[in-house]
Amino acid sequence: MKITGRTDVYGIFGYPVKHSLSPLMQTAAFEAAGIDAVYVPFQVSPENLEKAVDGLKAMGIRGINVTVPLKEKIIHFLDFIDETAEFMGAVNTVKNVDGKLYGYNTDGDGFVDSLKEERIEVGGKKVLIIGAGGSAKAIAYSLLRNGVEKIVIANRTFEKAESLAGRLSKIEMVEAVSLDYLNSVVDKFDILINTTSVGMKESDPSLFDYSLIKPDTVVVDIIYKPFETELLKVAKSKGAKTINGLGMLIHQGARAFKILTDMESSVEVMKDALLEGLDGRNI
Ligand code: NAP
Repeated sequence: MKITGRTDVYGIFGYPVKHSLSPLMQTAAFEAAGIDAVYVPFQVSPENLEKAVDGLKAMGIRGINVTVPLKEKIIHFLDFIDETAEFMGAVNTVKNVDGKLYGYNTDGDGFVDSLKEERIEVGGKKVLIIGAGGSAKAIAYSLLRNGVEKIVIANRTFEKAESLAGRLSKIEMVEAVSLDYLNSVVDKFDILINTTSVGMKESDPSLFDYSLIKPDTVVVDIIYKPFETELLKVAKSKGAKTINGLGMLIHQGARAFKILTDMESSVEVMKDALLEGLDGRNI
C-alpha cells in the first residue's frame, strides 16, 4: 500500500497487543473498501492509558478498537458512550469525531450477527449461557434485545451468575444456576453457549456431560482457538448444529469498521485474513 500525507490512522489499544488479530482483519477490510488508511497495534499499559488517549486526540487518530485489559478503564476518558457500552461498562470501539471521543461495544451484537449468518434466529428461543464474565454479559444483553424467550446463566462462581442475571432482569427475566445443575437442565434449551475459557486447552475438564446434548440444540462455543473444542466435537457427534467463535470475532470487527468508517466492510475478506493469520499460528 502507498502511505501519503493524506493517509488516515486507526488502530487498537491493548496490553499486551501482540496477540491481536484485529490489525490483520481491519487492514484487509480497509484495503478491500479502498480506504486510504492504516490500522496499527498500540501497546498501551493501563497506567499510560490516559496519556495514550490524549495522544490519540492530539495526533488526530481517527478511531481505535480497545482490548483487554483497557475496555473498562477507557470509559473514564471518553466524551460519550452508547447505551450498550453503558450497560456493559466496557468499550471496544472508540471513534474520534473532531476531537470528541465516542465509545461503543460491538461484542454482543457481533455475536448475534454471527448466528444470523448461520441462519439461526434467536427470537423466541430458550438460551443457556455458561459463564458470567465480560463476553457472557455482552451476549446476554444483545440476545435479550433480539427477543429471546428465556436466558439461564450457569457459572462456576454462582454469585457472579446471580449478579449478572439480576442486572439483566431489568430488561427481561433471567435466571442463574450453578454449574452442578447443568446435567439436569441441558436438554431444556434451544441454544447453548459456552462463554468460558474451558476448552482452549486439550487437558480442560468438561463443564458437564456433553453426551447429554440433544440433536436439535444449537451449540455455540465462542472459543476460536482451537476451531473445534471438545464441547463442539461431542455436540456435533450427537447431531447438533455447532458454531465456533470465529464468526463473533469477525462480526464484532465488522460492526466496529462500520462505526469507524461509516462504510460496510467485506465480511468475507475479514474472514480470509483471520483464517490466514490463525493458520500461521498453527491452530
Ligand atoms: P472473563 O470475563 O474472564 O470470564 C471468564 C468466565 O469463564 C467466567 O465466567 C469464569 O468463571 C469462567 N471460567 C474460567 N475458567 C473456568 C473453569 N476452569 N471452569 C469453569 N468456568 C471457568 O472472560 P471473557 O472475556 O468473558 O472471555 C471468555 C472466553 O471467551 C475466552 O476464552 C475468550 O477467548 C473468549 N472470547 C471470544 C471472543 C470472540 O470474539 N470469539 C470474544 C471475547 C472472548 P468464574 O466467574 O467462576 O471465574
